[in-house]
Amino acid sequence: MEPGTGMKLQEEIRLAERVNRIAVSPTMAVMQEAERFKARGADVVDFGPGEPDFPTPEHIKRAAVKALNENRTKYTATPGIAPLRRAICDWHAAQLGSSYEPAECIVNVGGKNSVFNTICSLIDSGDEVVIPAPYWVSYPDIVKYAGGAPVFVETRQDDGFLVRAQQIEEAIGPRTRVVIINSPNNPTGAVIPKREFEAILEVCQKHRVWLLTDECYSHFVYGDVKPYSIASAAGAKERVIVAGSFSKTFAMTGWRMGYTLGPAPLIGAINKLQSQATSNATSIAQYAALEAMLGPMDSVVTMLDEYARRRQIIVAGLRAIPGVTCTAPQGAFYVFPNISKRLSSDMPDDTALAKRLLEREHVAVVPGEAFGAPGHIRISYATSVERIEEGLRRLARFLSQ
Ligand code: PMP
Repeated sequence: MEPGTGMKLQEEIRLAERVNRIAVSPTMAVMQEAERFKARGADVVDFGPGEPDFPTPEHIKRAAVKALNENRTKYTATPGIAPLRRAICDWHAAQLGSSYEPAECIVNVGGKNSVFNTICSLIDSGDEVVIPAPYWVSYPDIVKYAGGAPVFVETRQDDGFLVRAQQIEEAIGPRTRVVIINSPNNPTGAVIPKREFEAILEVCQKHRVWLLTDECYSHFVYGDVKPYSIASAAGAKERVIVAGSFSKTFAMTGWRMGYTLGPAPLIGAINKLQSQATSNATSIAQYAALEAMLGPMDSVVTMLDEYARRRQIIVAGLRAIPGVTCTAPQGAFYVFPNISKRLSSDMPDDTALAKRLLEREHVAVVPGEAFGAPGHIRISYATSVERIEEGLRRLARFLSQ
């Protein structure tokens, strides 16, 4: 082995046990693999990334340029600039019916950082965190990194991947500290009805466990469904923690802006952790986020209309492929078809299928296994109708073989 190769590095570097407990995000790994094919000149239909294909709205970009020109390029307070914390509380109140004060709000480096800092502030070695499956890939690894144990609750495709309060209650034990709920859900698009969400909150209140609600896709809901936050329920604030993100709602994935809403002492703990880790989120990105909170929301409507159109095309296209079943997602911008009937001895699982699909047809998808749901693949429809149609043609050809 040459010096500096993987083997040599492993011999030389003894890594901390906590970092060996986790793996690189599988969605990032798919993105990397798709990039390799693109670099070789392949025409890849990329259904992998969970990010809007729309640009960040102009008024938000202009606010960042203005902040830059005004030299707002220095440290800010660790929990974020005061007007942004105020604006997040006001936006959340107006859009989602909550009632938070700035002391109950901290600005983080993206929604992922909000979940990470919250879990690291609450979980001790051996504590349990209840996570409905399919789940967003990062939850189990963040919990493991913190020394905790994820406890999964299975949901079923024929039930629209909906988690029930009763299932959550059955999974709660003496070491349970947190229940993580993600609605609309990545990867299934399932949206928990208000009543069920309230029942989940009641279970959390009864057993004195935290309800961490990941609202990353709050505004991506279709048909009659309206954006909803469990933080708006009566008496919720003592038990609820909101992880929020600017990434999807305002097409701001690269800016790395998110926030946490919760009881002031918990926000104080997150602030302490953040003060020793990242410090404040990027100053000019905070001014851009401030404009997102105060400015018009029409870009959200435009994006949602377009996603709704794509959603219909992709669900219909997938359902037309023999052996593929697919629930219609009520939110987010993913579909999560079941391809288990298409597995065979030389393509035994969804990971093998995704690999072969990329090699043969240059279509990138994320295997369901990564989300705790083998036999499925996740397709992001945050890409143009023309690419969706091309991808569907290739998928149909591949899966019909
Ligand atoms: N939660 C969920 C469910 C997500 O899908 C994502 C992004 N893929 C995030 C949180 C984090 O988003 P960000 O860190 O970009 O704000």
